[in-house]
Formats: sequence, structure tokens, C-alpha cells
Amino acid sequence: MEQVFAPWRIDWVERSDKNEAFEDCVFCELPDHDDDRENHLLARGDCAYVLLNNYPYNPGHAMVIPHQHTGAYQDLDPDELLAVDRLLQRTLDAMDDAFAPDGYNVGYNLGGDAAGGSIDDHLHAHVVPRWSGDTNFMPVIGETNVIVEAVDDSYERLHDALAAQDGTTTLDEQSAVVIESSRE
Ligand SMILES: [Zn+2]
Repeated sequence: MEQVFAPWRIDWVERSDKNEAFEDCVFCELPDHDDDRENHLLARGDCAYVLLNNYPYNPGHAMVIPHQHTGAYQDLDPDELLAVDRLLQRTLDAMDDAFAPDGYNVGYNLGGDAAGGSIDDHLHAHVVPRWSGDTNFMPVIGETNVIVEAVDDSYERLHDALAAQDGTTTLDEQSAVVIESSRE
């Protein structure tokens, strides 16, 4: 039977083992929180940031998210477009180093329910590493605590890979990698 590939249906979901309070928009508020590692925020630039998905389709499933609160791709100005795509390139480089996958799926859900996304008012580009013959990782590994451990492990590997890139600085292991503004 052919696998239906639908990582977009697994959007960012607040972890049930946390009491993190998000008042309005999770993607606007997350970068303002201090606990990057806990929140799985990997890298932060002036215009965009990289977040791991708490419920990954595959190990390493990440999202590149512009800071601007908009659901319309057409709202991004040229600087934001460039920043998002540069961060996407950095994310792919980091994934190559961390996981050496066979391929990637990269894409947006635009337009809410019809496109399959669950957070439709704040753009986010999914980056999903793929391996030949992979199947949806979550149903395969099942238990929530196993998934949390796997995401923590992915975080560590990608954080290290991003921190090793040119044009980045890293405060400590608890903080997201900072993309120098001229190199975003
Ligand atoms: Zn927002």
C-alpha cells in the first residue's frame, strides 16, 4: 500500500506535560520566552526563527517561522523572504550534518483548513527530512515520552550543527543559536 505523505497535518502542538501559557499566538510568543531548549527553539534571527515540531512526522521535523504575524505569504517583504529562505538553507545544512537524510519535503500550508494546517494565521514552512522507505515516525514509536526524548535528541544534534555554522553565535546550550543579522 502506498504511504500517504501528510506531514502538514501534524502541526505544532503544545506539549501536554507543560503549563506554558500562550495568550494569543504561539508562534509570536515563543521567541519571547526564555526557555529555548525546553521550547525546542533552535535558532533565532532578526526576521525569522527555527522551531522543532513537538509531534514530528520524522525525526528532525522543523519549521522556519517569520516573526511577522501573518498567514499570507504575500505579506512578507523582500528582507523577510530572504531571511526565511536563508534560514531554510541553514536548516537543511544542519539536517544534512545531523541526520544525513536521503531527501526532504519543504512546504507551507496556506489557507487554513483546506490546506490541512492547524495554525493558519501565522506562516510556518515545514522542513521534513525523509529516508528511503520511511514511514510516519509517530505511529511507529507510539508513546509520548519516547517522542519527547526523540525530539530532545533531535534538538541537541541540530543545535550543535547550527552552532557550528559560520555567521552564528551561541550563548549557551540552553539558548537558541543566534543568526548574526548580516548573515541571516
Ligand atoms: Zn503570530
